[in-house]
Amino acid sequence: MFSPSSPPAGLLEKAFQYIDLHQNEFVQTLKEWVAVESDSVQPQPRLRWELFRMMTLAADRLRRLGASVDSVDPGVQQLPNGQTLPIPPIILAELGNDPKKATVCFYGHLDVQPARQEDGWLSDPYTLTEVDGKLYGRGATDNKGPVLAWINAVSTFRSLEEDLPVNIKFVIEGMEEAGSAGLEELVRKEKDRFFSSVDYVVISDNLWLSQRKPALTYGTRGNSYFRVEVRCRDQDFHSGTFGGILNEPMADLVALL
Ligand SMILES: [Zn+2]
Repeated sequence: MFSPSSPPAGLLEKAFQYIDLHQNEFVQTLKEWVAVESDSVQPQPRLRWELFRMMTLAADRLRRLGASVDSVDPGVQQLPNGQTLPIPPIILAELGNDPKKATVCFYGHLDVQPARQEDGWLSDPYTLTEVDGKLYGRGATDNKGPVLAWINAVSTFRSLEEDLPVNIKFVIEGMEEAGSAGLEELVRKEKDRFFSSVDYVVISDNLWLSQRKPALTYGTRGNSYFRVEVRCRDQDFHSGTFGGILNEPMADLVALL
């Protein structure tokens, strides 16, 4: 079994030095990723293709790390209006399979909530902008930055030709902000294959409590979504004339809510 031990002497110094030297490259890649409008919430074909582009960028990056990458097609998303949209691929990637090492699986997502400058942004949400040493851009922290941080950490080890202390797996999706469509099914399907060797899962989709203190998430409540539709006549009835005689769909909705 895996027993955590201190890294070899000098390794962390070397790693931090490498990271400092390559900071601009890391920020440049984050800028490219933030520039992709990978909005999974608004069901528009144009945005859906942006999501596909985003997942391809990530898969390419992982392949360049030397990982074996499987882009799984989760099928289609059924919209409430009856239309369907394709779900972007879920990436299953792995790097190293040494049975003597523990296997850590990192989870992250590359889709974002909608963002428009009119919402109150001080800069274009899809242009990563540095102000006072802080980086602003849609998805910079939730969750493109954290996904890239793991990739950069692994690439630092690879570039320094240092042995990774663990086997690494990634599960990266593009529909988190829209209820993770397709993910649960995939996890169940891969239970005895991709996930069977996983010892630890890092959910890399949470907060820092301060600039130095990361949050450790040990449970989430999940979400429930409901859709209520009340149908009425297809024409207006003036409340001054018909009020009290006809049932108002607005009143029915309020009662239901
Ligand atoms: Zn998130």
